[in-house]
Amino acid sequence: MRNILITGGAGFIGANFVRYWIGAHPDDRVVNLDALTYAGNLENLGGIDSLPSYRFEHGDINDRECLDRVFTGEGIDTVVHFAAESHVDRSILGPDAFIRTNVHGTFTLLEAAKAAWGDFSGGQRFLHVSTDEVYGSLDSGEPAFTETHPYAPNSPYSASKAASDHLVRAYHHTYGMPVLTTNCSNNYGPYQFPEKLIPLMILNAVEGKPLPIYGDGGNVRDWLYVTDHCEGILAVLRSGRPGESYNIGGECEKTNLQVVDTLCDILGRLLPADSNKQLVARRFSDYRQLKTFVPDRKGHDRRYAIDAGRIRTELG
Ligand code: NAD
Repeated sequence: MRNILITGGAGFIGANFVRYWIGAHPDDRVVNLDALTYAGNLENLGGIDSLPSYRFEHGDINDRECLDRVFTGEGIDTVVHFAAESHVDRSILGPDAFIRTNVHGTFTLLEAAKAAWGDFSGGQRFLHVSTDEVYGSLDSGEPAFTETHPYAPNSPYSASKAASDHLVRAYHHTYGMPVLTTNCSNNYGPYQFPEKLIPLMILNAVEGKPLPIYGDGGNVRDWLYVTDHCEGILAVLRSGRPGESYNIGGECEKTNLQVVDTLCDILGRLLPADSNKQLVARRFSDYRQLKTFVPDRKGHDRRYAIDAGRIRTELG
């Protein structure tokens, strides 16, 4: 039985993880600490919020007093750290919040855990959720990222996540903190904020709005279903070697254009274009006609791909 602190549990992956964890470990105590930024939504946790084993704490990972209160008051022995600013486009327009939350917030959380956990003899675990974007961009044909791929973050978002990964690693090396880091690829699934590719395209298409595609649409991402990601995190938490990092990917590389075309085709079956008044009004017979190519994102990474060999071999 664990007392687990999940940060960022009102966001996309965090909310899926809270649901997944409670389903898998109904006897554990779960505290979800989230600042409820634009990306956090308590409706993602509908049905969970009334469970006696679950508590929501409206707090910021930069607030050391709040963290100390939670660690001590709840006897936290496990941390799964999702809280972050997560949208690359926003990091290009305003990097400050990314440095504050992703770098300083992670540092404050590490400090609070270190203070609460003493000599780490109580079987504690601190799992930090990071991204494949820290490795930079791959050319087509280059081998996928392994855990030893050099860090080369290209956006303020990925640079801030890389900085947090280094801090987490240092707390293991210097203080012996039992940390684990996971670097995952692009997640998809329920409760994702509709600024990200898949929900944005679905909602725009339903409303007959343009489907904006950066550049030539040829950027490649490795898509991972969010519950598969949650299972991977659980495996790392249970059996991962402290101080190590584990890549988690779906082995499902797709260009943005392939993703959007697939969504258009699925939508065409679920909500035929000739029954969608918005499309009929625009004289469109196919959702693909909504695709609009827009100027590329600044510094847009061309391709990410995860080699999930370590997690498969070591943790099954
Ligand atoms: P999200 O943006 O949907 O949710 C982030 C959550 O963190 C929100 O609920 C927000 O309110 C909360 N938060 C932000 N700042 C906070 C602060 N200072 N204190 C407390 N809470 C705060 O993000 P997501 O897509 O669920 O991503 C979760 C984690 O996974 C992030 O660390 C992200 O870097 C990483 N990740 C995500 C993806 C992906 O495809 N979504 C891929 C790789 C890695």
